[in-house]
Amino acid sequence: MVLQAVFYFHHRVNIVTTFTDLQISKEIIRAMNGMGWETPTPVQIEAIPVGLKGSDMFAQAQTGTGKTGTYGTIILENIKPGMKPAAALVLVPTRELANQVSEELTKLSKYTGHKCLPIYGGVGIDPQIMKLRKGVDIIIATPGRAKDLINRNEMDLSKISVVVLDEADRMLDMGFIRDINFILAKVPKKRQSLLFSATMSPDIRKLAMRQMVNPQELLVSKDEPVLDLTKQYYFIATRDEKRDVLCTILDETEPKAIVFCHTKHRANQLMKKLCAYGYPAGAIHGNVAQSKREKVIRGFKDGSIKILVATDVAARGLDIEAVDYVINFDAPVDPDTYVHRIGRTGRAGLTGISVSFFMPEERRMIREIEAKTGKPIDPLEIKVVHRPEPDMSKFVPEQNAPEGRGQQNQSRTGRKGPSSNGSSIEINVGNADGLSKGEVVTLVKAGTDLQTGDIGRISMGERYTHVEIIKKDADRASTNLNGQKFRGKAITARVI
Ligand code: AMP
Repeated sequence: MVLQAVFYFHHRVNIVTTFTDLQISKEIIRAMNGMGWETPTPVQIEAIPVGLKGSDMFAQAQTGTGKTGTYGTIILENIKPGMKPAAALVLVPTRELANQVSEELTKLSKYTGHKCLPIYGGVGIDPQIMKLRKGVDIIIATPGRAKDLINRNEMDLSKISVVVLDEADRMLDMGFIRDINFILAKVPKKRQSLLFSATMSPDIRKLAMRQMVNPQELLVSKDEPVLDLTKQYYFIATRDEKRDVLCTILDETEPKAIVFCHTKHRANQLMKKLCAYGYPAGAIHGNVAQSKREKVIRGFKDGSIKILVATDVAARGLDIEAVDYVINFDAPVDPDTYVHRIGRTGRAGLTGISVSFFMPEERRMIREIEAKTGKPIDPLEIKVVHRPEPDMSKFVPEQNAPEGRGQQNQSRTGRKGPSSNGSSIEINVGNADGLSKGEVVTLVKAGTDLQTGDIGRISMGERYTHVEIIKKDADRASTNLNGQKFRGKAITARVI
């Protein structure tokens, strides 16, 4: 009896749903494995079987849950490749998302042979027309450009059998509802419709009810992996203290981070100050032109920009994988926005950290968010280092800088150093003493007028640390270090 019970328990805890369990075909599983996906995410486990039955569905699922893989699989399973005109249509709010979805579906269809095409505005329409004429299976489009192509008789939707509305709430926020209704009126009534949205407002329900037949509703976001994998912290700071807290975190951890601000103005101001301090930062918000926005995002992806300062609206539909930190510089307006923001980190299989700054009067929001997510948010224990106002004459925005400039001033997070005219200082404190790179910067600067931009690469060993510093300042920096203590240990420093 006892043995049986133990076995049963043992058996149960070992049950793992696999892609094969979900009845996904071999070709798609092979592609998934090639993308490094080993097991399905909770959204995939719940939604794929529903979709494979052919049901309409509306699912609350955020970026980071594996929703693209979910509807991608459903499309690839439910339409044959080589169709002309296209058999599936995915509507998305932004061009970045169109590109990102198209890339992911192209990877997923590696062995099924479906052809995908992203369609969006702001670029020439003729190449898109040419590609549509040649024939594709899956169109991933923003509503405005799709409508334009339909009006020119260049987008034939008469054979569409699967429609996806991705980030439906964003599309409604962006005022696309009329375009969406116009486009869906061109798609056969007999079709499968799938709607994904990070939030479920009455407007989304209205859209779902209007466009779908007996849709299955899936509320998967509460169990999604994002929150499980993200370690959440808060820090209580006044408006004036926030920048010091942020810089301390950046110094301590050198993360790839997204920093959220309430307004365009605050995002812009913060980005400028971070750049003036020497951090490789870029900003995206409503006033940043599309071409610049793309440049910043490219910089963030290739690592020349490490800190992306963003507003909620601007961050929508962004494809940013593997962000270490999400920092809510300004507290989110509500728990939904919080969940959406931190969905940028802790993506499938990766752990991430989020730190939210709350002003003393916003403290009650912490409990509200915890109640919504069912996960604790812990206080962040750090010793905040105060720094003077930055010298704004040093501000050169990363996104305006010529190629390569981003490398020059990355003294902090990029650690590309003060260039070839630098000297190296060796100090007798290292990892074994619990020293962090941020503390090295603080020690070097303490009591001097040295700026962050004067400090270069820091390499830490167990007992020794080497710091690059501008040659002309090396001697006095070394003398200054020699007079200091770190956790009670007297520092000895020498220029090497
Ligand atoms: P999404 O929610 O579609 O934005 O996906 C978030 C990220 O998770 C993307 O980078 C996907 O490639 C990845 N992803 C999706 N499904 C899985 C899975 N089952 N295993 C690992 N990674 C996944």
